Amino acid sequence: MNDILKEIEQLTDAEAIAMTHQYGAHNYHPLDVNIVKAKGAFAWDGDGRKYYDCIGSYSAVANGHLSPYIVDTLKAQLDKVSLTSRAVYTSELAVFLKHVCQFTNMEMACPMNTGAEAVETAIKLARKWSYTVKGVPEDQAEIITAADNFHGRTVTIVSFSTEEQYKANFGPLTPGFLTVPFGDIEAVKKSITPHTAAVLMEPIQAEGGILFPPPGFMAELRQVCTQNNVLLIWDEIQTGFCRTGKKFAWEHEDAKPDLMCLGKALGGGVLPVSAVVGSKDVLSVFKPGDHGSTFGGNPLAAVVAIAAMKEMDDKHLSVNSQKLGDLMASELSKLKHTCIEDVRGRGLLVGLEVKEGTDTKKLSQAFIANGVLTKETRSRTFRFAPPLTITEDDVLAIVKKITASLDVVEAAQPSAVMA
Ligand SMILES: *Cc1c(COP(=O)(O)O)cnc(C)c1O
Repeated sequence: MNDILKEIEQLTDAEAIAMTHQYGAHNYHPLDVNIVKAKGAFAWDGDGRKYYDCIGSYSAVANGHLSPYIVDTLKAQLDKVSLTSRAVYTSELAVFLKHVCQFTNMEMACPMNTGAEAVETAIKLARKWSYTVKGVPEDQAEIITAADNFHGRTVTIVSFSTEEQYKANFGPLTPGFLTVPFGDIEAVKKSITPHTAAVLMEPIQAEGGILFPPPGFMAELRQVCTQNNVLLIWDEIQTGFCRTGKKFAWEHEDAKPDLMCLGKALGGGVLPVSAVVGSKDVLSVFKPGDHGSTFGGNPLAAVVAIAAMKEMDDKHLSVNSQKLGDLMASELSKLKHTCIEDVRGRGLLVGLEVKEGTDTKKLSQAFIANGVLTKETRSRTFRFAPPLTITEDDVLAIVKKITASLDVVEAAQPSAVMA
């Protein structure tokens, strides 16, 4: 074995956790679990305990951990070339661009690495489009966003977050953004001015607590944007790539965007790969030198992303996600635990909201003890977003483990949930 892997293998879980705390910035508060191996829908800690991975890397592991097809593709590419630069062309990037446009039914793509970069790219495209095509006066472009959004962590993106902690002490913030309540079409209409460049929203607010807009909102928003010559930008970084039972969540209604932000599952659970896709009209505003990224569209990332998309098609992952997501939500809805406030989901993006006063820390520990990895989003909602390759038996097993975990909390704390 390689000496690096040997050093890593020698660490106990406790040592790894202590070392992370010592040398790493404390910008996360992880579960008390140290993962040393993962395959398919499962992950293992150093003591050999096996977990259903229902965090699914925040939906980035749609194809399952270490999908053989994706890993084989990556290994084969490593015998050719992994990184060049955008100073030259590569055949890998060419084929990736064609595939991502075909998969999304869009005309052009701009490759990046992380989700936040894709959102930043979309903001730059929308602003430049508004000045050079729509005719908005210089530096006056406005972008309408939703309350409780999550679009990433850069200074510009947190500037339009409504989560105070995301912004506090990180100013001065970027101007040019308005916020409306999520799903409120009248509020969008009232906020549009001649300076509005775009509306940027998630079709389903995953980080916000698996929140859905009212039925018809997405389609109506599409119409309102078209009528006002405003770009519609869907951030599908978490909801995209079959997660909600369609390739993209906007497909649940007639709501095709002008620009769409992609990330997470585009990297096949292996590498960071993101992109903005959209119409030629909008993408064409970028001229050489306007934007870029050293690693964006690199050959290794390109082939991994192609493999991820091909496998999603070949294995009909959107159908599986739809079917098993329905099963998971309906099984969870049958549970009678008094601490459950709500179960909601679309495809394999399922939220279990518990009532205020529930001991969520205890519940979280019970999930771990029962072998399920899940973490609360905002607002007491536990997210279940397992790989889309799971089976019906997996869903039933996960529901059993969730039930056992809820039993523990209910037994320990019956009075706190009476209200
Ligand atoms: C995760 C996420 C992002 C940010 O992606 P990063 O790769 O973490 O930068 C943006 N938008 C949504 C909806 C996300 O879920």
